[in-house]
Amino acid sequence: MATTAMQSAAESSQPSGGGTIAKALADVQARAARAAAASGWANPPRLVAVSKTKPAEALKEAYDAGQRTFGENYVQEMVDKAPQLPADIRWHFIGHLQSNKVKTVLEAVPNLAMVETVDTAKLADKLNKAIEVMKRPEPLAIMIQVNTSGEESKHGIQPGEVVALARHVHTKCPHLCLAGLMTIGQPDYSSRPENFDCLVACRAELCKDLGLPLEQIELSMGMSGDFEQAIAMGSTNIRVGSTIFGSR
Ligand SMILES: *Cc1c(COP(=O)(O)O)cnc(C)c1O
Repeated sequence: MATTAMQSAAESSQPSGGGTIAKALADVQARAARAAAASGWANPPRLVAVSKTKPAEALKEAYDAGQRTFGENYVQEMVDKAPQLPADIRWHFIGHLQSNKVKTVLEAVPNLAMVETVDTAKLADKLNKAIEVMKRPEPLAIMIQVNTSGEESKHGIQPGEVVALARHVHTKCPHLCLAGLMTIGQPDYSSRPENFDCLVACRAELCKDLGLPLEQIELSMGMSGDFEQAIAMGSTNIRVGSTIFGSR
């Protein structure tokens, strides 16, 4: 991975307790707000504090500093941590979700606010059905994960298949709410703009096809190393871990 000024800044200020997480969180929020203002966006993006591998105490420090949205990428970790933390946390699932784990995560985490990583009709159907059976009062917000880099190792649907999956969710999954599109950029810094451009283009195509205003479909892109760049390109949901909680 190319070392950027941002990454080295994050690494030299690794939180070690005693308010460090709160300070790092405030720094990220300030940087995100500046990036949004510089691009003329009316609002800063939602910040998902990615807490994977970090203990519940670290999340509590961020919570006490006002953070309410947290992201985990393993079902077991979310299931373990959620009951230890306040119920008004809005959990985002950001990892690969296997169909056979859907019931587990929905039942164990009633405050699961969003699954950002739906990439098959099968998974959408599984989620939709589980919510129906559980009689969850609210629909579940989901995002479609798009493989914008074409790397085989990455999950996510191909860009050309986004519209079909979005239509499926929109018309066949009444217990899901299509909130947006999500992507994980390539670690190679220089190729990220194309990944983000691709997600922006996918949104335009899907909104045109489904007749939705652009504002209705969010873009989840940008992590510790590139969230300002992602905001400049229209990200409304950034997922930041190591810059807030320290390296893993
Ligand atoms: C770990 C992770 C992040 C956060 O990455 P950092 O570089 O630590 O900010 C964001 N999104 C996903 C999907 C992740 O798995």
